[in-house]
Amino acid sequence: MNVPLPWKTEIKYLGFIFSKTNQNNINIKYLRTKARRKINTLKSIAYKTYGPRTKDLISIANNSICSLFFHNCSTINKWLATHLNICDVIQTTALRTAMGLPIWTPNIILLKLAAQETLSGKIKRLATQFFLKYIAYGAHSPLYRNDGTQSVKLTNKDSSALDQILPAFNIDINHIIKFPITLDCLNIKCEIHLHSFLFQDKSLPKTTIEALFEDTIRTNFSNFFLIATDASKSPQITSIAGTSSTNSFTYRLQHINSIFSAEALALCQALDELPNDEDSVLLLTDSLSALQALANLSIKSHKIILRLAAKIATREKFHQNIVLLWTPGHADIKWNEKADMLARRVSESDLNIQWVSVEDIITQLKVHSENQTDTTYRGSKYYATLGDIPSIQTIAPWLKNRREDIIIARIISRMIITPALLHRFGLNDNPLCSMCKCDNSIEHILLYCRKYSLIRQSLCHRLHINLVGISMFKSFISIICSSQHAIRALFSLVKFFDIC
Ligand SMILES: [Zn+2]
Repeated sequence: MNVPLPWKTEIKYLGFIFSKTNQNNINIKYLRTKARRKINTLKSIAYKTYGPRTKDLISIANNSICSLFFHNCSTINKWLATHLNICDVIQTTALRTAMGLPIWTPNIILLKLAAQETLSGKIKRLATQFFLKYIAYGAHSPLYRNDGTQSVKLTNKDSSALDQILPAFNIDINHIIKFPITLDCLNIKCEIHLHSFLFQDKSLPKTTIEALFEDTIRTNFSNFFLIATDASKSPQITSIAGTSSTNSFTYRLQHINSIFSAEALALCQALDELPNDEDSVLLLTDSLSALQALANLSIKSHKIILRLAAKIATREKFHQNIVLLWTPGHADIKWNEKADMLARRVSESDLNIQWVSVEDIITQLKVHSENQTDTTYRGSKYYATLGDIPSIQTIAPWLKNRREDIIIARIISRMIITPALLHRFGLNDNPLCSMCKCDNSIEHILLYCRKYSLIRQSLCHRLHINLVGISMFKSFISIICSSQHAIRALFSLVKFFDIC
């Protein structure tokens, strides 16, 4: 009591420091100190010859060091480029430790080998995802008022990031599927039959399924109005169709939609267009996943499933009875076959539905960022010598322990310790091979040096290739990393090459 509140120039809240001055500097210093401490811990478990495998250490680097920057990505993405560079340095230091690669390994190779996007890129991506998610919360998000108008404006940086991404995917912000305005959709009472009937078994012969289906409809759903829906996805076109005894529809969809979203959108569209005033509607679909999602509805469900639930809720208000029935696909059930055929027939010129779910946009953003790492690598000077290199995660199942993880990472990145490499960094006076009088590099040792010609022959013999097949370093790497057999052949002979 009666103690005056002390004045403070900064406070920490949820791991973020709010300060009167220089807020960004203070935060980067705070996070860097924390990250460095964790990198030191990582160093203490990243042994050279035994202990945790590289792939697990990469996960640790991601989930405990890089993740320090994810929680506040929506503010960190506005940092200056110099500050974001600091984040990237933290990431590459952590990855280098995890993979057991020396300090001079080029970052481009490091990220490609570890199959990671740059940390600054990931922070920006996560921030965009964060805002997209809030846009999708619609009336429930602080971005909008109850009447749907915007209540908060995004900063220039954030809105310009969205303005770049959405047109790139051909999406209008107004066509992002939003959370339903009311929450009655969480209490829908409709029946969903996934395995209730005998015909719902894919292992049965087609003719049996068809006969059992007809039988089920006759005995259980004779007074129902039947609607069948289907979605189709080809490399060029995503489309949906629905059909009933009186009518049918077909639409082209925004291509970014997954088959799951398309199936759910087909059901939404069917509820909008096909039933009129029928008391009981039976919806047939071959999408088990969409129906399962609807059966396990919660506030965290896909927005598209929530939208479907909202449409069902509206119809239930008018005492329409809605039942959803899973039908095995391609089992000659004539309703399905018709919907399937209609969906397949959709072409570029058909009417387009623009709706797209935020979940599908986020999937695309991830794919895009993975491709980004590959594109940067392919555009770099290393591509010419190394060719397409695999990620450590993909070859990990063929390796036995941490020691092999490190050796292969060092061979692929040409960072294994050789006299030529040491000479490049001023650590060895003589870069030349004593026998051949040329640069004693890893290529020389593995592919050309006369000292090892017998071992090389034996390696070629085991790989079933002739010497010409490995005359270039990149062809050598691609052969070695192509199969478990090849990688084991190299490891059975690697000790004779005097490289580690
Ligand atoms: Zn030599």
